[in-house]
Amino acid sequence: MSHKPSVLVVEDEPSIAELISVNLRHNGFDVTVAQESVAAQRAIDAALPDLVLLDWMLPGQSGESLTRKWRAAERTRFMPIVLLTARGDEQDKVLGLNAGADDYVTKPFSTQELIARIHAVLRRRSPVAPTDLLAVGHLTMNMATHQVRADGVVVKLAPTEFKLLQFLLQSPERVHARSQLLDKVWGNQVAIEERTVDVHVKRLRLALGPFGAMVETVRGAGYRLTATAPKSPE
Ligand code: CA
Repeated sequence: MSHKPSVLVVEDEPSIAELISVNLRHNGFDVTVAQESVAAQRAIDAALPDLVLLDWMLPGQSGESLTRKWRAAERTRFMPIVLLTARGDEQDKVLGLNAGADDYVTKPFSTQELIARIHAVLRRRSPVAPTDLLAVGHLTMNMATHQVRADGVVVKLAPTEFKLLQFLLQSPERVHARSQLLDKVWGNQVAIEERTVDVHVKRLRLALGPFGAMVETVRGAGYRLTATAPKSPE
């Protein structure tokens, strides 16, 4: 359990960014600094942080508008955001919270207060709500980050395979007929044939590598996801 919580600090004043970084690192956080909105977005695209510490006044896009943007995007919808606001700016706090920030810290702040608020927000946000995390055997799917892992290793899936696995993870050990999978995964795209299901099951198994065996073929009935994979491939 050596995972350090990662914090992206978005702050244009180098001395403040430096002060925050040093203190966060000292308190066991993994810190990345971005000085404006474009760099912040780039950092998030590269790796979703556990929390963003976001300065309200930035060159270019404001903290409020960045918060709104991140709350509207699927990938960052649940990303914890703590705003840094100027002293006594009540209006900013209200706007920030309305935009979707989890909390705010008023400048100048004490390091202790900052760390305490970050810990409080992380506690509220994690571990991810049970409904956000699907898990069967060694497979997990985080619905908040859309990340699939097999025995801890990230697996890249195309959208259809993702939806297929999501459905299977939601009702493991049960046998699903092809027609049922078509209904649940492909919805009302009536032109899709049942053998399309086989094609995507095959792709899903390939993507899952050794864990692909967890997606079992039940002869004459359909497919089932099982926690205990058969020892040898069929
Ligand atoms: Ca600033």
